[in-house]
Amino acid sequence: MPQANAKLNAFPVFMRVEGEAVAIVGGGEEALAKARLLDQSSAVLRIITNAAEAELLSFIAATGAVHIDAAYEAAHLEGATLVFAASGEEALDRRVAADARRLGIPVNAVDRPELCDFFTPALVNRAPVAIAIGTEGAGPVLAQILRSRIDRMLSPSLGALATLAASFRGAAERLPKGNGRRRFWSDFFAGAPARAVEAGELSQAHDAAVDLLVSNAPAAGHIALVGAGPGAEDLLTLRAHRLLMEADVIVYDALVPEAIVAMGRRDAERLPVGKRKGCHSKSQAEINALLVELGHAGKRVVRLKSGDPLVFGRAGEEIAALRDAGIAYEVVPGVTAAFAAAADFELPLTLRGVSSSMVFTTGHDLKGNSLPDWAKLAISGATVAVYMGRSVAAEVAGRLIEAGLSPDTAVAVVENASLGNRRRFHGTLADLPSLEARADLTGPVMTIIGDAVAGANFERSEPLAAHRHEGVASTAADGVEQ
Ligand code: SAH
Repeated sequence: MPQANAKLNAFPVFMRVEGEAVAIVGGGEEALAKARLLDQSSAVLRIITNAAEAELLSFIAATGAVHIDAAYEAAHLEGATLVFAASGEEALDRRVAADARRLGIPVNAVDRPELCDFFTPALVNRAPVAIAIGTEGAGPVLAQILRSRIDRMLSPSLGALATLAASFRGAAERLPKGNGRRRFWSDFFAGAPARAVEAGELSQAHDAAVDLLVSNAPAAGHIALVGAGPGAEDLLTLRAHRLLMEADVIVYDALVPEAIVAMGRRDAERLPVGKRKGCHSKSQAEINALLVELGHAGKRVVRLKSGDPLVFGRAGEEIAALRDAGIAYEVVPGVTAAFAAAADFELPLTLRGVSSSMVFTTGHDLKGNSLPDWAKLAISGATVAVYMGRSVAAEVAGRLIEAGLSPDTAVAVVENASLGNRRRFHGTLADLPSLEARADLTGPVMTIIGDAVAGANFERSEPLAAHRHEGVASTAADGVEQ
């Protein structure tokens, strides 16, 4: 709520400009900035200047704006709906403002608030939806900051959704006034039609809206399997953030930091499903059942998984359960730990002439007699990212060396990749077994092996070999591995 007596000195309105002339006087960057802003509308731009700079000329050529290539005269403003004095010269801007006023046309003079009848807002454009931000000239930078915050919150497909909504207005009028109609629209904007538009499926969105119109069924549930990224909050995708803000329930794994869970809608129910050693955690079957139950109850669920949900995330099993139960779902990718670790080391995962393929693996499949395929790939030069590899580090190193990979092959290890408390280690395959005995690594650990690793930046990393003989048994070390 605004302060009790805070009044707006400029009141926002939306002006009809379709097909109307909007006059801009000026040939420099001020005029170009206004022209670009107005070009987001269907107004007919009339640019008055005999001193257009090159960039403005190419704008005019590209957009088909009307160019009056002459010294300014009041007559040039006639018939315009709005006037912008953007010449950059005070005397001329004053003249333009006075002329516009005489002609009864509202005028805006760039950077001269005292000459303005109206201010131009910072604009978030999702046509036909527009969000205009005004600060009455007090804080153009503030307006830009707000603009980009709001822009991030809104789906790029919001405009398409609003256009679809407009086409259903007539039909919705025939629904009973009050609750019935309100529920139709809230299911429309938060349910299946909105999701289909988001996925670019416009005809499916139309059908979903028709279904809503004819059925009285309660809203169907929806589960988003969302990658939370490696841990840093700002490595979350914008889509993940949006879904979190709309969620009724957030179901999350132990590796997802609280700070990310906290980014969800304030009223959302938060359900940790664990996989942290020593704490009670749900079995995969229990998690599948929970998701199905929430879906049947009509909830919008965000199932948050660390990294990418499709990389060692057991998403396949959850997808199968949801599909069997006929519950709608979608998958939102995330930054997988291998990518975060590579970034922390400035490590090129593919390196021209050195490595042109990459393997995501876990060391846990090395137990049998035959080498898994990925080991063969490693020997032929692939970069290997080992997930959950700490407790099997010796096995991984031993089997790879036995199979013919040089003990001198470079290895990079990151604990808590992407986070402030990350630790980096480097060494060779021969050093890798030392990882198993380290009691000081309590966070998740990513190991990257291969010749491309030699191209990394080891400036802020510690040698692995220094700890080769450290023999303290680990208690918590494997705790966060899944
Ligand atoms: N779906 C996740 C992986 C889950 S398996 C992803 O795509 O990243 C869990 C393993 O991922 C951990 O044992 C560890 O090897 C790795 N991991 C996850 N987050 C990590 C981080 N911040 N730093 C290093 N490794 C991480």
